[in-house]
Amino acid sequence: MNDRLEGLRKLFPGHRLVADAASRAAFESDGLTAFSAKPLGVVIPETTDEVIAAVRWCHDNDVPFVARGSGTSLSGGSLPVADGIVIALNRLNRILNLDPDARTAVVEPGVINIKVSQAAAPHGLYFAPDPSSQTVCTIGGNVAFNSGGAHCLKYGMTSNHVIGIKAVTADGEVVTMGGPSVETIGPDYTGLFCGSEGLFGVALEITLRLLPQPEQFHTVLVGYDSLRAAGDAVSAVIDSGLLPGAMEIMDATSIEAAEAAVQCNYPHDATAVLIVELEGPSERLAFERDQLEQVIAATGPIVRVVAKDDAERLRIWKGRKSVFSAVGRLSPDFLVQDGVVPRKRLGEALVRIEEIGKRSGIRVANVFHAGDGNLHPLIMFDGNQPGQLHRAEEVAAELSRMCIEMGGSITGEHGVGMEKRDFLPQMFDEPTVDMFDRLRRAFDPKLVANPGKMFPGTEAPALSLTGLHPLEKAGVIHRE
Ligand SMILES: Cc1cc2nc3c(=O)[nH]c(=O)nc-3n(C[C@H](O)[C@H](O)[C@H](O)COP(=O)(O)OP(=O)(O)OC[C@H]3O[C@@H](n4cnc5c(N)ncnc54)[C@H](O)[C@@H]3O)c2cc1C
Repeated sequence: MNDRLEGLRKLFPGHRLVADAASRAAFESDGLTAFSAKPLGVVIPETTDEVIAAVRWCHDNDVPFVARGSGTSLSGGSLPVADGIVIALNRLNRILNLDPDARTAVVEPGVINIKVSQAAAPHGLYFAPDPSSQTVCTIGGNVAFNSGGAHCLKYGMTSNHVIGIKAVTADGEVVTMGGPSVETIGPDYTGLFCGSEGLFGVALEITLRLLPQPEQFHTVLVGYDSLRAAGDAVSAVIDSGLLPGAMEIMDATSIEAAEAAVQCNYPHDATAVLIVELEGPSERLAFERDQLEQVIAATGPIVRVVAKDDAERLRIWKGRKSVFSAVGRLSPDFLVQDGVVPRKRLGEALVRIEEIGKRSGIRVANVFHAGDGNLHPLIMFDGNQPGQLHRAEEVAAELSRMCIEMGGSITGEHGVGMEKRDFLPQMFDEPTVDMFDRLRRAFDPKLVANPGKMFPGTEAPALSLTGLHPLEKAGVIHRE
């Protein structure tokens, strides 16, 4: 065993300090498989005290660490630092308290997202943020990336549903931010921690807000003869004053792939489909349904399908949810871009994405959270062909620049991580990036927590692999 790990050995018994090369290999990459780096060791704590001890050891010994949930980050956020420690949080997977009256749950960071809704369901409650990876990703990862999902259009991102966090900061201090009530006094430190991408320290206990399950759904699938028309329809719906639970768009390539994979029976002649889902009490839905009908009729649809029952609703969502892994059938490798454009400019952005794809000779499929203007162009390539990864990365970079230029963002929900750190100074001016850096140093003066991420110019792990996340290959989760 490496001499540098001697001190850690006293804190973690043999099987919970992983130091052999074969076992460490399982932690050398995340959902962005283009990057990999072998960590010095992996610790597997079972209690929050053990997490605190590991962080303090790293701080005292100047050893970098990365907190890791399920490793599904698509931006290289949980990529380890070579010669650093991975703190694997999967065994901290207990729901510590669920209070149906207060509509809150206190959970450990390794709890899987969907497990919260499953535990809350008997009380008619659920946890609203629904990343497509929700069957495997952890609440700790959701907090670090302020993750979103199809229904975050109406309900907001993870930060809107986290009211308290107990954490160990990177310098070993244990802090409590927020608490059991939504009414807090003073600065919103909980909000500050959400989206900090593992750079401030490790979340140990997270207090979540739960919502009542919607009483009813009204789900409509609308086909258009152009992607731009579908994009423009999104603005029309929002301008009408309606706030659907979800609004998602898929282009022809995505439809073709989903159809082949799960036979979702989408309209064959549509160049793009828009899924709009209203949800809420039945009286309100009866009114909103008619309003939606009128708005959609004015957007020039070529076909409309209204889900008659739950089975049809699920079939519509099955097509949408399957599309990323289905696109994986069309191409051995792909990159997911996660930029955002102002919703009003969605139609224009889609036309530009098509042009960029054609010009580069790289196929791009589009499927995205249209209501938020959150694009997820899938840039397809074959990593075995010399130069193809590089060209795909150039397309991703051009799309990031387009989002900035249009007044949007380089990330909607996947974080800056490793992948988009060079774009940070393009999006924010120098004093702002400097302010981010000072904020981070207040939590982590020695820069031991997840170094190399978010900020440009720091040492980066090598580019060495390409491919789908192993869970996507197995069809367990789908990328959005
Ligand atoms: C197929 C697929 C579909 C996806 N769909 C979506 C989607 O719809 N919406 C979306 O937003 N994302 C999506 N993602 C991205 C990813 O699932 C989310 O970013 C998720 O929140 C990561 O959770 P994780 O447990 O895998 O975290 P990890 O990947 O392990 O870690 C992510 C980041 O969180 C930090 N971290 C983890 N735990 C803690 C903790 N306790 N304290 C502090 N920092 C911590 C890590 O250091 C890292 O920086 C998808 C990914 C895949 C592979």
